[in-house]
Amino acid sequence: MNDENPFDAYRARVERPLYRLFREYGRPRLGWFAVGMGGNFVARLASLIPPLVLGAAVDGVFNDGTYTLPLVPAGWIPGADLGQFWLSVWLIAGAFVVTAVFTWVYGVAANLFAHEVMHTVRVDSFEKMQRLDMAFFDDKQTGEVMSVLNNDTQNLEMFLDNALMNSARLVVMVLGISGVLFWLNWQLALVTLVAVPLMVLATAGFMRLAEPLYVSQRATVGDLNTRLENALSGVELIKTSGSEDYEVSRVRGASRRLFDDTMAVLKLNYLYRPGMEMLAGLSFAVTFLVGGYWVFAGPPGPFSLALSEGALITFLFMTQRFVTPLAEVSNIVDQYENAKASSERVFGLMDIPVRVQDDPTAVELTDVAGRVEYDDVDFAYQGQLPLAPDEADVPATDGAAARATDGETVLHDVTFEAAPGETVAVVGPTGAGKSTLLKLLLRLYEPTEGEVRLDGYALDEVTVDSLRNSVGYVSQDSFLFDGTIAENVEYGHFDANADEIRDAARAAEAHEFIRDLPDGYDTRVGERGVKLSGGQRQRIAIARTVLQDPPVLVLDEATSAVDTETEALIQRSLDRLSADRTTLVIAHRLSTVKNADLILVLDDGRVVERGTHDELLAEDGLYATLWGVQAGERAPEAVVDRDDD
Ligand code: ADP
Repeated sequence: MNDENPFDAYRARVERPLYRLFREYGRPRLGWFAVGMGGNFVARLASLIPPLVLGAAVDGVFNDGTYTLPLVPAGWIPGADLGQFWLSVWLIAGAFVVTAVFTWVYGVAANLFAHEVMHTVRVDSFEKMQRLDMAFFDDKQTGEVMSVLNNDTQNLEMFLDNALMNSARLVVMVLGISGVLFWLNWQLALVTLVAVPLMVLATAGFMRLAEPLYVSQRATVGDLNTRLENALSGVELIKTSGSEDYEVSRVRGASRRLFDDTMAVLKLNYLYRPGMEMLAGLSFAVTFLVGGYWVFAGPPGPFSLALSEGALITFLFMTQRFVTPLAEVSNIVDQYENAKASSERVFGLMDIPVRVQDDPTAVELTDVAGRVEYDDVDFAYQGQLPLAPDEADVPATDGAAARATDGETVLHDVTFEAAPGETVAVVGPTGAGKSTLLKLLLRLYEPTEGEVRLDGYALDEVTVDSLRNSVGYVSQDSFLFDGTIAENVEYGHFDANADEIRDAARAAEAHEFIRDLPDGYDTRVGERGVKLSGGQRQRIAIARTVLQDPPVLVLDEATSAVDTETEALIQRSLDRLSADRTTLVIAHRLSTVKNADLILVLDDGRVVERGTHDELLAEDGLYATLWGVQAGERAPEAVVDRDDD
């Protein structure tokens, strides 16, 4: 197997992911985005008003200077000091109210926008995931898929909300403050604003040092999560092998690494923030020094403009306003990088073509008689991976393209037929391809060569839904959802009523044990059905199939030993279930094999023998050997020896 599979290739091919995020998901909600941005602008601009008014008031009200404000015509300003005083009071109070109101508007609108996008992306990726082929899930770890739905969508939200809004704030503040200062006194503004390039340099330096630390921190978070996830899902193995201490020490190690990485990031952060504040303080001190001297003794050195006390006060207040928006730059960049990687993963997933899907001409299967035909079927798992767009054009000599077809063939030239109502048993050593053979009939995978047909239709000529409705599947290890027994029986047929559920359970020999449970059909089965035994779980799965009432059955008989009584119950329910239906069964039980209309002996993906029980025994080949081992007449080595040939 290649480390880089075609799914990752899709991710690598996503172009300008954030632009695409905006185009596909942002556009329908552009209204909220615009309101958020507008609110952000107004709130930030309003926050600049108080220091400006304070400066004007100091000059106009308390000293004998003139009361001037940018963008406000002189005619609007009262002539008397008292009038100017009240104007200042109202302006300052009003500015705080406007800032508060628009911060609220911006917060609500920006979050609505970002969270709506997150919600839609999450549901869309889940929906896409539901439609993807089995091959995708064979290849991806649950944790990896979960993290697309959780972390990646969250990163997008952070970016759309925090990063975008903070960059806007940065621009407004830097431009707004510079504008005000230049308007007041461009010469002193040059002195004050020297701190800004220094802050930018400090931020760039911080980012260079912090980036590898962030990368490492993200990796250790991932490690720790994988560790925790594995330990929780493997809790049974951990307990039975007495490895609790070992697991605790592994988690402790991963957690310690995360601690170390986090501390490294924090240490740097706590150097950076105060450093930025020190630069702002320096700017404050220098502005005070130069400006104070200016007010005191006239323009120093090369300077020529007049500077009032009020203007100096506005300058001093404004120097404090640079720090917060600039200190956010590192976060903005971090969130941007995260969001870019996350949206690549999300769109990489969305771009994977679904191979098993309805053809536009697909017909709905109705009144299925149940004739199953396998016609010269070859199958390889790796051939199932969809090619990334430009890989498909590359000649097969290229490693990437060759990969799609060079998977080991698991089934070779499998041909057989089951007439309606017949039972075909598949037997053979582990790994021979029995489960694979059955899964093709449900179109969980598609044959690489040849055709599987139901009632004469190739499986890709009928709708996937109608096919899967017509074919019931009982696997060896029946999965139950956390929920009640009744919910698990009716899963897939949600309109079943209580009577139907009970009848199905009766037919599956499950009614008795369900009735004896504390809450009967309302008993909760626990995650994956852990509160039930394997035999009970299987009978619930059988009941589910009884309810489905499919014309064709695919059974994977459990090998795991259940007690004889349970086995008899299961056997009886399966016999009842398969009585009038075409059945493909991976057979381990002698009774199943004996009564089958056709037995296929599979070895290494090939049908090596076929016939009825008696015919195959007479042949004295692999079947006779397997049978002999089961019946206790031959030693298990007989099979193993054969495998070594
Ligand atoms: P059986 O049911 O007879 O034990 P399987 O059909 O499960 O055999 O497996 C046949 C072969 O296919 C084995 O070599 C197995 O390793 C391989 N195989 C099974 N499932 C997958 C999968 N999802 N992806 C890749 N290879 C698989």
